[in-house]
Amino acid sequence: MVIDNTYYGNHAVRNTTRGLRLYNEVGYIDIHGDSVSYHYMVRDYLGSIRAIVGPGGTLEQATDYTVTGIPYTATTDQSGNRRLHTGKELRTFNGLYHYDNHARIYDPLTGRFTTIDPLAGQYPSLTPYNHCANNPLTFIDSNGMEIVIAEEDRKNTSFNMRLGLVRSALRKYRLSQQYDEIEQSKEFKLTIKNASGDKNSNYFEPSTQTLYIDLFNAVIHKEGVNSPLFILRHEMDHIHAYMVDRVGYKMRMEAKDKQYDNLEEKRVITGDDIKAGKVLEEPTRTKHGQYIRVYIDDPTSNDLNIEIVREKQHLINNSEMK
Ligand SMILES: [Zn+2]
Repeated sequence: MVIDNTYYGNHAVRNTTRGLRLYNEVGYIDIHGDSVSYHYMVRDYLGSIRAIVGPGGTLEQATDYTVTGIPYTATTDQSGNRRLHTGKELRTFNGLYHYDNHARIYDPLTGRFTTIDPLAGQYPSLTPYNHCANNPLTFIDSNGMEIVIAEEDRKNTSFNMRLGLVRSALRKYRLSQQYDEIEQSKEFKLTIKNASGDKNSNYFEPSTQTLYIDLFNAVIHKEGVNSPLFILRHEMDHIHAYMVDRVGYKMRMEAKDKQYDNLEEKRVITGDDIKAGKVLEEPTRTKHGQYIRVYIDDPTSNDLNIEIVREKQHLINNSEMK
């Protein structure tokens, strides 16, 4: 029996007579006395929870949904998990059958919200009770206020998870001093954007204080492979320099350098990049030159297939000869 639920954004603590259940984006942890067990959510492209996988890989819940989100084949349910369609919580108390989308309550039986859209005036062609512009296979409603393309949302979620992984790895390796100071600054507000797939990524735009970073691809250059972790630290080094001394940063950026393009790159590549390279066992560049990006599963690693690395390095060497 549930005694109470406490919510912290996407996180929740469920206090039951059996113990505690702690929810986050990837699953939940059950704590019953001395026993602690981890349970993972398997999501589809809409973010719907299709399965709960428990300790040892046991299938504890499996769910399919109608288009509007009615769960219809719970082939097994030993979990009691109520986070279902698009990851929202299904409320069944008092005979109701509603999803809690934060700002509004969604009724999957009619495919509509129970109250009108506070921004309905902006969408005169749609009923104010509509859910996902009546296109729940393309869009998801993240909070009852706005709809987003499901695919985009999934990319952002995996980007944020990668950023979290890289962030904690930098702390673990004691390479996060500049990152920490940037985060702690009251005047300087850095925006970090997922630039995976963009031609222009891994660069800092001072005018908007935005970092465009690709955490899905490692970088292969002549000296070897650098992880997204290494690249993020490199960028934070530039951003920190800009934050503490804009004039000096600008002067170094404008001062050309044969080997490293400019003196700001030289400062980072021949400075803390070498220190980070030693800690992470990654190579540092001997020039600020050409590179090729290759997808990597683990953003904290530079461990790519050696054949792929050689092939890409061959391409780089050939293009530089021309
Ligand atoms: Zn750089």
